[in-house]
Amino acid sequence: MESSGGSTVRVLVAGGGISGTVTAMALKRAGHDPVVFEAYPAGGDDIGAFLTIMHNGMDALRAIGADGPVIDSSFAAHGVELVAANGETVGRREFGTDGPRTMTRAALYRVLQVEATRRGVPIERGRRLVGAKPDGTGIAAEFADGTTETGDVVVGADGLHSMVRKLIDPDADAPRYTGQTIVWGYTRATGLPPAAGIYRMVRGSKAAFGFTTAPDGATFWFARIPDAERSREAIAAVTPAGWREFAQAAFAGEPLPCADIIAATGDEVFGGHSYDVPRTRLWSTPEMVLVGDAAHAAAPADAQGASMAIEDSVVLAQCLRDLPDRASAFAAYEGLRRERVEKLVASSSGQDVGEKPGWVYAHHIDWDAKITAR
Ligand SMILES: Cc1cc2nc3c(=O)[nH]c(=O)nc-3n(C[C@H](O)[C@H](O)[C@H](O)COP(=O)(O)OP(=O)(O)OC[C@H]3O[C@@H](n4cnc5c(N)ncnc54)[C@H](O)[C@@H]3O)c2cc1C
Repeated sequence: MESSGGSTVRVLVAGGGISGTVTAMALKRAGHDPVVFEAYPAGGDDIGAFLTIMHNGMDALRAIGADGPVIDSSFAAHGVELVAANGETVGRREFGTDGPRTMTRAALYRVLQVEATRRGVPIERGRRLVGAKPDGTGIAAEFADGTTETGDVVVGADGLHSMVRKLIDPDADAPRYTGQTIVWGYTRATGLPPAAGIYRMVRGSKAAFGFTTAPDGATFWFARIPDAERSREAIAAVTPAGWREFAQAAFAGEPLPCADIIAATGDEVFGGHSYDVPRTRLWSTPEMVLVGDAAHAAAPADAQGASMAIEDSVVLAQCLRDLPDRASAFAAYEGLRRERVEKLVASSSGQDVGEKPGWVYAHHIDWDAKITAR
């Protein structure tokens, strides 16, 4: 179904990550004219980092026919097994055959950018948005290289430390440190405990660990470690060896495979603090709107950041397809998304939101369903 709202909207998308590329693909499918501006000149490699797109994120990609390339560059897990500090397995939950897909972060960014380009979305790299002002007919976006671009709408898909969030509301809350540092890694070392098709989640006495084995034998692992907050510069200066030692120390002396898996990892290891954004007061102005981590960000406990970003992107495009004026489109988008994402952020931070585990997966987007004004 293409744009029913009449005129084509020229959309300047700030950020070429997950929500930026998916928003642009969905807008293109809705009959609009998106262009993506990504701050970095080349794709971020973040060697060691990986992520998992859950059922609902895959469903949202399917809604715009973009699930295929992601499936081709990822592998599945069919369940999760919980392991206690003494090494005993204490629980298991099935994901089903339609379950989550795991891939390196670099691979996901790459396939989404390649697919968006294939669909005719221009992606301009090395273009960092630094300002945006309404210009009477639409909005003029300013970039760090001194250039300006004009359009009808700016979509802030610019992640956790979003500039567009600050442009919409200079008093918007800054991301909140969750008190945890996350370290991710993958290794092709042999002889490690197998976890093919499953995520093994280990609760150590000081930190949590999860791992899974890819079909080619590589072990993908992450550790969530309580930690005091350090500056962004200090975190950026940690070397792969530094991350490895930090993660290993959290599991030293425990009767679990975690320290061994970490020790068997080379330089494919990456770490950083975890932040969340529980509530962003304003999601839009008449010419600007937020998606993904720019609007809301969750601690990694539910592995939902990417999936929620993808859901947002598709729903925003549906709203801009079906509702002729931007105010009603943005109101409908926020109405469809805010409650769900804020509940997810609360649940990821450990709050009881009154739902059973896995509540978030059963979400379906029907691309052809008509969005009505709220
Ligand atoms: C290492 C790591 C592992 C994670 N693991 C998982 C997981 O397993 N499952 C999961 O669901 N979530 C996971 N997350 C969270 C997930 O990555 C985020 O929720 C998701 O990437 C949000 O997508 P986004 O497009 O909103 O932001 P991002 O993916 O961060 O993309 C934002 C993009 O905007 C660009 N940008 C920033 N500022 C500007 C600007 N001013 N102008 C232009 N471009 C700009 C950035 O360079 C970036 O490319 C993980 C996060 C990290 C860091």
